[in-house]
Amino acid sequence: MSQFNLKKAKEFLMWILFPPCCPACGRSIARDEIFCPCCLKDYFPASSGDREWKQLPAGVNLYAAARYEGSMREAIHRFKFSGHAGSAAILAPLLVHALRENGVKPEEIQLLVPVPSRPKKVRARGYNQSALLAREVSRLTGIPFSETALLKTRDTRAQHDLNAEERQTNLSGSFRAEKAAVSGKHILLVDDILTTGATARECIGALKDAGASSVDILVLAVTQHETGYDGAANRV
Ligand SMILES: [Zn+2]
Repeated sequence: MSQFNLKKAKEFLMWILFPPCCPACGRSIARDEIFCPCCLKDYFPASSGDREWKQLPAGVNLYAAARYEGSMREAIHRFKFSGHAGSAAILAPLLVHALRENGVKPEEIQLLVPVPSRPKKVRARGYNQSALLAREVSRLTGIPFSETALLKTRDTRAQHDLNAEERQTNLSGSFRAEKAAVSGKHILLVDDILTTGATARECIGALKDAGASSVDILVLAVTQHETGYDGAANRV
C-alpha cells in the first residue's frame, strides 16, 4: 500500500472510530461538514466592519471567521469549557477559509503564534485552545507554528469583570516574545475570540518589541460590541 493510501486508510479508520461531531451541539456530522445543518442556520460569518471598535494598531489586519453569536458562540463554549479539545480540528478550516477569503497566501506568513493563556487556566483545562487552533492551521497550511515564541510572564486577573481601561492596565507588560523566534518575521497571532482587543494589543506590542516585522490577527470569532460579550467565555 502506498504512503498516500495508507494515510487515507488511517483517516477513514479514525473517522469510523471517532466520528466527527458538530462543535456547537454534538450531533454527528458528515466528513465535509463543520456544523450540522441545524446549527449552520445559526452561523454568522464575520464582515469587514467587525474590527471597528477594537482599536487595533494601524497596519494590523484582522482575519475573522464568524461573529460571536449563535452556533459559533456555542462552539467556543464547548471547546473551552466542556473539554472538547477535538473541536480545534473541526473549526480550524474556518480559520484557513478566513485567510483565503482575504487573499492571504500561506507563504506570506512566517510564523503562527497562539495567544498564551494564563498558566492556571491551562492547567485546569488541560490545553490552551488557541495553541490547538494554531497547530491545526499549521497542519493545514504548512505555516510554521511556535507555542513558545510568545509567553505570558506573569499571572493577571480574569478580564471579564474589568472595563476596557482596566483590561489594558491589567495586561500591561504581561507578555514577552522570544527575539530569536520572531525577529524580522511576519507573524500571524491566533486566538479563539477577539473582544475589546486588549489582549491582542499587548501581544502585538511584545512581538514588535522583539523585532517582528509585522503582525496580523486570526480569530474564530469577533464580538460586535463590548456589552454583547458574556464574561464566562473570556480567554483569561
Ligand atoms: Zn449542531
